[in-house]
Amino acid sequence: MTTALQRFSTLAALRQALSDRQLSATELAQEALASVRAHDNLNAFVHVDADLTLAQARQADAMLAAGTAGPLTGVPIAHKDVFVTQGWRSTAGSNILKNYVSPFDATVVSRLLAAGAVSLGKLNCDEFAMGSGNEHSAHGPARNPWDLTAVPGGSSGGSAGAVAARLVMAATGTDTGGSVRQPAALCGVSGIKPTYGAVSRYGMIAYGSSLDQAGPLAVHASDLVELLDVMSGFDPRDATSAETCNGQANAPGRIRADFVQFSSQYAASGAQPLKGLRIGVPREYFGDGLSSQVGAAIEAALTQFEALGAQRVEISLPHTRLSIPAYYVIAPAEASSNLSRYDGVRYGHRSDAYTNLADMTSRSRAEGFGAEVQRRILVGTYVLSHGYYDAYYLQAQRVRRMIANDFQAVLTQQCDVIMGPVTPTVAKPMGADADDPTAEMLADIYTLSLNLAGLPGMSIPCGFAAGASGRALPIGLQIIGNYFDEGRLLAVAHQYQQVTDWHQRIAGQE
Ligand code: GLN
Repeated sequence: MTTALQRFSTLAALRQALSDRQLSATELAQEALASVRAHDNLNAFVHVDADLTLAQARQADAMLAAGTAGPLTGVPIAHKDVFVTQGWRSTAGSNILKNYVSPFDATVVSRLLAAGAVSLGKLNCDEFAMGSGNEHSAHGPARNPWDLTAVPGGSSGGSAGAVAARLVMAATGTDTGGSVRQPAALCGVSGIKPTYGAVSRYGMIAYGSSLDQAGPLAVHASDLVELLDVMSGFDPRDATSAETCNGQANAPGRIRADFVQFSSQYAASGAQPLKGLRIGVPREYFGDGLSSQVGAAIEAALTQFEALGAQRVEISLPHTRLSIPAYYVIAPAEASSNLSRYDGVRYGHRSDAYTNLADMTSRSRAEGFGAEVQRRILVGTYVLSHGYYDAYYLQAQRVRRMIANDFQAVLTQQCDVIMGPVTPTVAKPMGADADDPTAEMLADIYTLSLNLAGLPGMSIPCGFAAGASGRALPIGLQIIGNYFDEGRLLAVAHQYQQVTDWHQRIAGQE
């Protein structure tokens, strides 16, 4: 079935059609809601409320009619269920927040709403964003639109699946160790994780606070420009939100201005628009564990970039291997602290049967949290406990610094951007890692180090390879930049998407 949104190739084209009144935001929202229902088998959406959506769509139509429309007015999007939303439930994929409705919107949500975007509802994700396959959700696993027996990637699996099936024009996601880039790669869409501090975390249900960043997923890099431009900016309600980015104010307009500046510079260079761009290719990203098919697709993408004029530089990020142990100490440590707020007293699930206060808290948590979350809380509490803190947590923080220094050394001296794979393989079959939680963690090898360093990174589609079932599954190319270099990354990705069509392929229509 063709979805409403398959008719528009870019967000800009859709916005134009809405402005020209070729269709109304309300008609579009109705069509989109119908295709969400028709694609129920993806389990991408966990909460839809047509009344709330249509109220936003009518408001968008009023603004379009009055000539007061914003950059995203009438554009159908949806939010990962870790962003709190007024009206729609916010569960973070957990039974502990089963019926939770927030009294306020996350900053990301309110900024997109103020720009006119129409929300179709909430998207499935791993519980508290912990996972790499969207298999740890209290709502059941989300599925990959390219192959219903494969994972969509995690933790923003619903977000990537919804965009890949064109149920929405764009979706929000969060990335603590890869959760925007990984599902984007495995579902064949584009996604960006901005620099830590670029986007407000206010109202984003916390996992690892020093690592979490929100980012958009969409079809085109140029669509991501519009979305991230609106989402980003200093927020006094988030103490870690950046006031300035390399001397520039962290305000809406920054991403677009940088993108336009880089794009015009590139456009001026004619047939070799990326002449002068130095692409660092880390040796450590092409070792054991990388599937030959993914490696070949990345190689082909790099060749394409060379044809566009870019220069390839071999680099080394020697501590890459240590990103897994460092991250899987730091993230659970922060999670164990963040998740202590779910005590059955203030909000969330409370057990029906208990004998005293401590018993109530412990039963509520045992019933409300899933197995993966409990595992992380145990690890996190252990590494922070007296006697182990120095050996594990402090040691991991030292490794974190070494990883960040590796990136600085190459990004200041050898290259402008870094490219490599996002995941070692295409999407795995559902259940493949069920008996081995650490196997799932190993798949994060190329994504975690960015979050430890706080750097921006994105994933764009760059090919296909056969998965376990024999069906063709998408492959993502990762592009990493220095702090607050989102505009450059997006402009580089845009150049690639001008000469390739991997990102335009639609699941079910291959
Ligand atoms: N797979 C990683 C984890 O489980 C990253 C998840 C994320 O980025 N939210 O922690």
